[in-house]
Amino acid sequence: MSRIRVLVSGAYGRMGRFVMNAVHDARDMELVGAVDPAGVGHAVSEILDIDTELQISGHLAGSLDEIRPDVMVDFTVPDVVMDNIEAALTRKVACVVGTTGFSPTDIQVVQNMCHRTGTAAVVAPNFSIGANLMMRFAKEAARSFDYAEIIERHHEKKVDSPSGTAVRTAELMAQAREEAFEQVPTEVDKAPGSRGGTVESIQVHATRMPGYVADQEVVFGGPGERLVISHVSISRECFMPGVLLAVRKVRSLEGLVHGLEHVL
Ligand code: NAP
Repeated sequence: MSRIRVLVSGAYGRMGRFVMNAVHDARDMELVGAVDPAGVGHAVSEILDIDTELQISGHLAGSLDEIRPDVMVDFTVPDVVMDNIEAALTRKVACVVGTTGFSPTDIQVVQNMCHRTGTAAVVAPNFSIGANLMMRFAKEAARSFDYAEIIERHHEKKVDSPSGTAVRTAELMAQAREEAFEQVPTEVDKAPGSRGGTVESIQVHATRMPGYVADQEVVFGGPGERLVISHVSISRECFMPGVLLAVRKVRSLEGLVHGLEHVL
């Protein structure tokens, strides 16, 4: 069977480098393209200890036309990801997207693009298997508790907040219930924002500092008890099994698949 030809967009970034390594090491895949305006002209072998002639290109559309990959994996920034997806889908290149910061409208737009072009995409705010199980367990627990808050902790370079995972967790928890979670209004607000931001009637608190990759706790409160579901990422390696799984499956899917839980 021929290998899946993969182009990585955001190749010079933290996640892009991990993805290139993982694709290079996967026997059924071939790393055929690396795009990132930040790393133009760098040889991939300069930044990773892998044997390849690939150079990082700065122009996604041109690279897609020239290379014609089977799948584009995108870990870039919220500002450019929609254009990147459009560039790939209009060329019938399936997409695996880990970039976060999508609004519900963006998701709808991607869905329409997939249908219009007859090409599939997987967009997942979190490719870690453990984080996806955390979301599944949180959805289950949401039926049994009326109080819940989410605390997410990420590295200081993360550009969006709250994290895509926190937003997705809140959406799944809300879908599992008929009624909104109980709100706990603050009578004396000494520091505006100290109660966090609200997503789907759930307070979400975002911490940013060195020392974290991506952690999240979902805390449920009930009379005389508390349930804490916690996920800890030690290294960006934790996202790779999910990314490779999505790369293997995406071309057999239809339309947009939002969330790794539908691929697992
Ligand atoms: P990063 O280190 O900032 O990498 C993003 C890279 O994309 C940067 O090198 C950036 O260059 C580049 N870029 C900007 N515009 C581009 C374009 N038009 N085409 C191609 N590349 C472009 O960030 P990161 O930590 O790797 O994270 C990337 C994204 O993945 C973020 O949205 C993050 O939240 C998300 N993420 C998702 C998961 C998941 O499991 N889904 C896990 C971890 C992270 P500049 O520096 O010049 O902007």
